[in-house]
Amino acid sequence: MRIDKLVSNMGFGSRKEVKQLLKKGAVRVNGETVKDAAFHIDAEKDEVTILGERVVYREFIYLMMNKPQGVLSATEDSRDETVIDLLDTENRHFEPFPVGRLDKDTEGFLLLTNDGKLTHQLLSPKKGVPKVYYAHINGVVTDQDVEKFAEGVTLEDGYLTKPGKLTVLKSAEISEIELTITEGKFHQVKRMFEAVDKKVIYLKRLSMGPLTLDENLQLGSYRELTKEELELLL
Ligand code: URA
Repeated sequence: MRIDKLVSNMGFGSRKEVKQLLKKGAVRVNGETVKDAAFHIDAEKDEVTILGERVVYREFIYLMMNKPQGVLSATEDSRDETVIDLLDTENRHFEPFPVGRLDKDTEGFLLLTNDGKLTHQLLSPKKGVPKVYYAHINGVVTDQDVEKFAEGVTLEDGYLTKPGKLTVLKSAEISEIELTITEGKFHQVKRMFEAVDKKVIYLKRLSMGPLTLDENLQLGSYRELTKEELELLL
């Protein structure tokens, strides 16, 4: 790997800024000052110090975010703020992307990573990774709805969903529910409720696979996954 890429990935600025750092002699590899941006290093073995501080390289980053409403699950957008805009520069250098999409008005658990293999595993329809949602529904959610969801519901385009586990937490004019689904079709939760003539008025994702939203995370904030959480995933 090129030294300028490693230094930049570790959060020490853009490639251009890193070039300046190198020029200043701020970067050492195995005790030797390296000024050439194209210098190749072995990221596993070589000892790199930047401004006298040892940096240990890592390729991947895994962040859990509590996504707020009004923000897009995308890497960039010309009009709206994206979840990437909510990250510190230090994390943005790893070029993470959201694993799957939550609608602009959906809150809650969102994983951001630059690990493409993991992303694929979590999103692959074959794997059927369960996702749990909490929602407020305009309308009385009934036992009949629970049964229908358990069989799979036919969406307006004719698609029959896989079974969903619907738990009614409160059945009232505005109901509260939890729903577990193993697919990720566009607007799936909203469309499943539309199929039984009800409307989702608030939606929050609580978990994805083995990971559960850390309720200590304020809306719009994020943290790295813990070692234990990563072990559950990888
Ligand atoms: N289902 C939806 O309808 N919206 C989401 O954001 C996620 C699942």
